[in-house]
Formats: sequence, C-alpha cells, structure tokens
Amino acid sequence: MYSTEFLDLPPLAHAAGCLRLPGSKSISNRVLLMAALSQGSTTVHDLLDSDDTRIMLDALRQLGCGVARDGTTATITGLGATRPAGARLFMGNAGTAMRPLTAALAVLGGEFELSGVPRMHERPIGDLVDALRQLGCRIDYLGEPGYPPLRLGAGGAAPALTLTAPIQVRGDVSSQFLTSLLMALPLVAQRDVVIEVIGELISKPYIDITLNLLARFGVTVRRDGWQRFTIPAGSRYQSPGVIHVEADASSASYFIALGAVATMAQGQKGLKTIKIEGVGANSIQGDIRFIDAAVAMGATVNSGPNWLEVSNARWPLQAIDLDCNHIPDAAMTLAVMALYANGTTRLTNIASWRVKETDRIAAMATELRKLGATVEEGADFIAITPPKPGQWKAASIHTYDDHRVAMCFSLAAFNPAGVSVRIEDPKCVAKTFPDYFEALFALAEAPPGAIPVLCVDGPTASGKGTLASELAARLGYHYLDSGALYRITALAALRAGLALDAAHEGAVAVLARALPVRFVGDKVWLGDDDVSDAIRTEEAGMNASKVSVLPAVRTALVDLQHSFRRLPGLVADGRDMGTVIFPDAPLKVYLTANASQRAERRHKQLISKGIPAIIQDLLADLEARDLRDSSRTVAPLKPAEDALLLDNSALSIESSVTQVLDWWQARQPFSPGSTPA
Ligand code: C5P
Repeated sequence: MYSTEFLDLPPLAHAAGCLRLPGSKSISNRVLLMAALSQGSTTVHDLLDSDDTRIMLDALRQLGCGVARDGTTATITGLGATRPAGARLFMGNAGTAMRPLTAALAVLGGEFELSGVPRMHERPIGDLVDALRQLGCRIDYLGEPGYPPLRLGAGGAAPALTLTAPIQVRGDVSSQFLTSLLMALPLVAQRDVVIEVIGELISKPYIDITLNLLARFGVTVRRDGWQRFTIPAGSRYQSPGVIHVEADASSASYFIALGAVATMAQGQKGLKTIKIEGVGANSIQGDIRFIDAAVAMGATVNSGPNWLEVSNARWPLQAIDLDCNHIPDAAMTLAVMALYANGTTRLTNIASWRVKETDRIAAMATELRKLGATVEEGADFIAITPPKPGQWKAASIHTYDDHRVAMCFSLAAFNPAGVSVRIEDPKCVAKTFPDYFEALFALAEAPPGAIPVLCVDGPTASGKGTLASELAARLGYHYLDSGALYRITALAALRAGLALDAAHEGAVAVLARALPVRFVGDKVWLGDDDVSDAIRTEEAGMNASKVSVLPAVRTALVDLQHSFRRLPGLVADGRDMGTVIFPDAPLKVYLTANASQRAERRHKQLISKGIPAIIQDLLADLEARDLRDSSRTVAPLKPAEDALLLDNSALSIESSVTQVLDWWQARQPFSPGSTPA
C-alpha cells in the first residue's frame, strides 16, 4: 500500500494482463454480521482485507464473537443465543458497519454507543433511527439529531418491540437503512414482520445482495415489488458453514474501464485485454451492471462464471446519457471515462453521491475541472465534457478521504496529452482496495522514457544511500542501490572461485548478466541466500570497487539496472546513474560533503555498531578512496553535467531530503496551491 503524502502517476500509454480482485466490501461486511448473528461457526473465504472490514471484525470481537483470521479467510463464531452486554464501538467511516450494527444491536437490547470519524457524523442515519423507534427501540443522538454518534438502549433493558404493524422506512436516501432492518429483524421474527418502504427505493441492487445473502443464511424474505418485504415467522440465522465472498464488482469497474480506455494499441483493435478474476457477469452485486455502461461507451466484455475479459472496441469512447441509480458507486468510474468520450456524458439520478464518503458530485466536478474538463453539476446529476485537444492540464487530485475518488482518477493518467496526474493521500484506497495502485502498475505501461528517475550520487560515506532510500519512501518510488549490484557481483564471483581481475573479466561478466538477485524489503537475496549482511562489510565494498572497473561487468549490469525503472518511478543511487544508466533522468543530485564530515559520520556509524575506529585513519582512507575513485578511467566519480550539487556537510538527513524534494516538486507540472483547503 502507498502511504505517501501523494503519488505521482506519469503519463500512461497502455494496459494489459490479468489480475485477481479483492473481495467485495458489501458482501464481506454483510456476511460477517450474519455469521455473527448465527449459531456456530462460519468460515468466510476471500474476505476483503480493508479498513471497513477490519472495523466490522473489531466490533464483532468487542461484542463477544469468536474471530479467527488467516489472510483472506476468517472464521466467525456467532453469538447464538447470547446477548452482548454493551459496548462502545468505533465505526470509522464504514457505512456498511454503522447502519446494520445499529439496527441489530437496537433490536437485541443492551446499551451501546456507536461513533465514527467526523465524516461519519455528517452521514445521515435519521430514517433508520425513526424506523427503529417505531418498533420500540430506544435510540438517542449524542450529537446532531439525525446523525451519528448514537446511544442505543440507554439503561440497558431489552426493548419491548411492537412487531404487529408494518415497519416503515424511507428508501430514498440510502438503501442501507432497509438493508439494516432486513438483517436485524430475523433476530426477533416470532411472527411475520413486515417492512414497508416509503418513497422510491434507491440502489435496489444492494437490496438484492442483502436478500441473496440472507437466503444463504437460511432467511427467505418475501418481496412484493420494492415496496413491501416480509420476514416470515420463525426465521432465524443458520450458518452455511462455509461461504465464499465474490470479488468486488465496484472495484472491478476501474479495471473494466482500464480495458475500455487503455487496451487499444495505436488503433489496433483487440490486441490486448484486461482479464479480471474473481467476479463474472452473473455476479449478485448490482455494480456488475457497470459492464453495460462500459459496453455502451465502447468496451468489449467477455465473461465466464468467475471472470471478465475487457478490451476496447471504439475510440474515442461514445458519450452516454445514463440513469445511474442502479450503479451509484461504479458510476464514478464512468465520470472519468467521460474524459475520453466524443461529447458530453450525463450521469443522472445520483443524489446519493452527496451523502457518501464525501459529497461526491461536488468532488468529481471540482477534480474533473482541474484536468481541463467542462463540468455541469446539479442536485442529482453531473455532465462532463472532455477537455479539447491541447486543453488537458496536469492536475493534483484532492481525494477527500474517498477511496473511489482516488481510484477512478488514476485512469486520467491515460490522457492523450501525456500529462501527469498526482493523487493526493493515496492510502485512502485502503477502505476497500489497499493494493489498488500496485494492481494498476502491474497492468499499465508508460511510454518509453516517461517513468521518472531521480539519481543521487556522491563520494563514499556522503550519505547518498540514506538520502536515496528516504526519497524513494517519500515519493512511493522504487529504489536502486547500484553499489549493491557490484557488491553482489563480487560476492557471487568469489563464491564461484573467480578472481576479481581483468583476466576473469569475461567470466565475471557472464555471471553478472544472469545474477539471481532479489531485493525484498531491506533484505538482499542471491538465489536462496540472504546476503544482506555479507555485502555490507568493508571488504565487500573493496571487492565491489575491483569488479566495478571491469568494463564488461559494467555493461553486463546495464539491463538489470534498467529493469528497476518501473511504475511509478525510481530513485537510483550510485556512480554512473545520471551519466550512463539513466542519462535522461529529470533530476540528478550530487552530494559534496567534505571529507572530514564524512569521516566523522562513518566513525559514529562504526562506533554505534561496536566496531572500534580512529577518525584520522578513516579520513586518510576516505581521501585515498576519493582520489582513486575520481581518477579512475572507468566510470570515474564525477557529477553528471546537469547534476545539482548539494553540500550536505552541515545538513541533517531530513534537511537534505526536504531540499531534494523541493527541487523535485519545482520540476513537476502541478501548480502549487491548486488544491482546495
Ligand atoms: O555505493 P557502494 O559503496 O555500495 O559501492 C561500492 C563500490 O561499487 C563503489 O566504491 C564503486 O567503486 C562501485 N560502484 C560503481 N558504480 C556504481 C555503484 C558502485 O562503480 N553505480
């Protein structure tokens, strides 16, 4: 997961390949609650691992359910006949936990407090509370009337419920209110319990998911149109034992869109496809109907029982005018696809966007305009006209702590103008898809040279490794420690019985070309050996110097070094990064710390590791090495012509990092202050 402040997407050209999607949020949280309300244990496979499911699992644990977790499998031991005593539950911004738990706990009885993040306290829940009060549940607002936080069952007595009259609930603000009642009332269905929906029910497909899953848990609800639902007398939750969660159809929308937007190579149809595993066109999730909208805009979609395959059939995409009430979440993806259409796309009947993670109509309009689109917005619609050629703008996309804003705007990086797109606070995707950007980068391809590289070099002990790896962490970029490649080559050569001299140049080069090296976290592997420590000794450094003057070895390592230039970007440190390996790098930094400062730093480092050292000796060694390094004929130590010099003698690591990041920012196309407060 990217936990950086922002993530810069370079312009992207194409995409192709196969991915497996994480489980559906809607199904995961419903299944978890139903399992908790059943007797006995339920094993849930392919569970989504995200903020919202973690919030639900934490709450269930607090309520006394057994929760055993192993990756994407969870085993839930239900409450059965036990009634949870009372608890204070934190719901974050998870609507799929807040609303159903409110209903279930209110009808079960006991005193509970449910709160969330500030945005959760702005998301309406009044219609659900009204419905539960009709039943006889005691619910108090602890803040604004109509909004969380809530206290349920003050005093703790079990409510005397009135189930004779139909329970009325409004259906036109959020379908989650009806879902919550449908999930709670089987707990008290000693007689037929009837729910009547007042007003037009929105987001009906989500009710279908609820009914479908209730049936899997032994509760068969009778439905008369979308107005009246009856939970038959004697209904009770029965665990299916084992249940699989479908992949998330809303998450699929980004990759269906990717297929529609990015698989056409130079106008050649059907060359490439995006294959999505974990969900098929027959999914029980309403958002799967996004497929129809994508096809209307120009995608070709094939499907099997648990997969989809998408490619592009027309370019530009066809602008559409669509009532999106049935696919409210996935429709945000259409708003970004609209940037690639041949006219104005209108998405209507989406008033519910205004009460989601953020006011999504306002958010989408603001951010689409930043890219150069013309956007009209109303209470319940949005209309998007793409930027004219030449009017695309590089934009820094504010994401409003809304996972879907972050995910759908990543698709803007395929813009024909080749401008980059910055996604602010990329970690907000953790709500439903923590590895979204990794999945995107595995499929996407940037045009040649578009992946940015930042090079850092400088003399021995100048702190270039520390600076470079910290820069990589701040930018969310990959990190290439080219010195490590020479150190590993030397180690591999010695292990193979080769001397590190010109006589063995050819053999060492052959070895270097096929080096089985892997960087995993801060560990370095050579084949099956962890060589992280072995390559860090002073001796390994000397050996690296020896192999690094052999031209054939340098050439042999070129492809390997180029292979580190992967999306979204690279920070590379070492001798010839800016001069030979990545001469087109947009920023090259050369550290010029003076020798006595470096000797002092190295001294501190060694002492802290318990290695005895004398400053004067270290200084003499450094000066000798500087001289040798800068006077050698092969890849001598010298700044690239276009490198910026940074004398970090008196700078802390943090100040050096800040300075380089400032230089980097100054070269980005995003205008500062483009983000609303
Ligand atoms: O940076 P590090 O100390 O790990 O590098 C070990 C040695 O490898 C350096 O002293 C230098 O001689 C050599 N090297 C090189 N080209 C690079 C990186 C390191 O010649 N790109």
